[in-house]
Amino acid sequence: MSDLTQVVLATGNAGKITEMTDILQPYGWQVIPQIQFFDSEVEETGRTFIENAILKARYASEKTGLPAIADDSGIEVSALKGQPGIYSSRYSQDIYGDKATDQTNLQKILDELKDVPQAQRQASYYCAMVYVEHANDPIPIIGLGRWYGEILSTPRGTEGFGYDPIFWVEELNKSAAELPKAQKNRMSHRGQALNSLVMQLRRGA
Ligand code: IMP
Repeated sequence: MSDLTQVVLATGNAGKITEMTDILQPYGWQVIPQIQFFDSEVEETGRTFIENAILKARYASEKTGLPAIADDSGIEVSALKGQPGIYSSRYSQDIYGDKATDQTNLQKILDELKDVPQAQRQASYYCAMVYVEHANDPIPIIGLGRWYGEILSTPRGTEGFGYDPIFWVEELNKSAAELPKAQKNRMSHRGQALNSLVMQLRRGA
């Protein structure tokens, strides 16, 4: 693993690309977003974050011939029995079809929780991060992360992406969208998962 120089980031999500690049670059890796090679996406047919991350990593590696890192992540809301989970990026598609956005996804959660008191608004972000050396790699390396918080009633902040404006980080008294990028990366589900992945790769897993 020590000869790793180039790795494809198997995501088209601009927020994820920024966060993952910021974390990986200090390790001296050249990370290249998959859009620089192809613009199709594999169907996320897995039932778990890990399965979907493996699908995405294998697809990107097959398309490019390079090692690939993929993230599959989402938010689980306790009062919604863990939804939207693996469907986080398309949660409001049932209402808005192709016009669904981060904003409509977030609004759907706010609407569903409108009668739920703050004490019952626990949520967590979850991330599975997968590295494959090549498309048929029989031993994908997997890093996992979870970040606990609560769902606000009103969005706050302009940083981050996705559900960050409604994700309350109690110990900092701020929403995830009020955190500077570096601070989010130190705490987040994605930061945890990516750091775990990097540690395994550096150990020669
Ligand atoms: P994926 O691309 O299928 O992994 O979908 C991930 C989705 O989960 C994103 O589109 C966001 O809606 C949500 N998500 C994951 N991580 C974050 C985060 O760090 N902040 C806000 N939303 C996130």
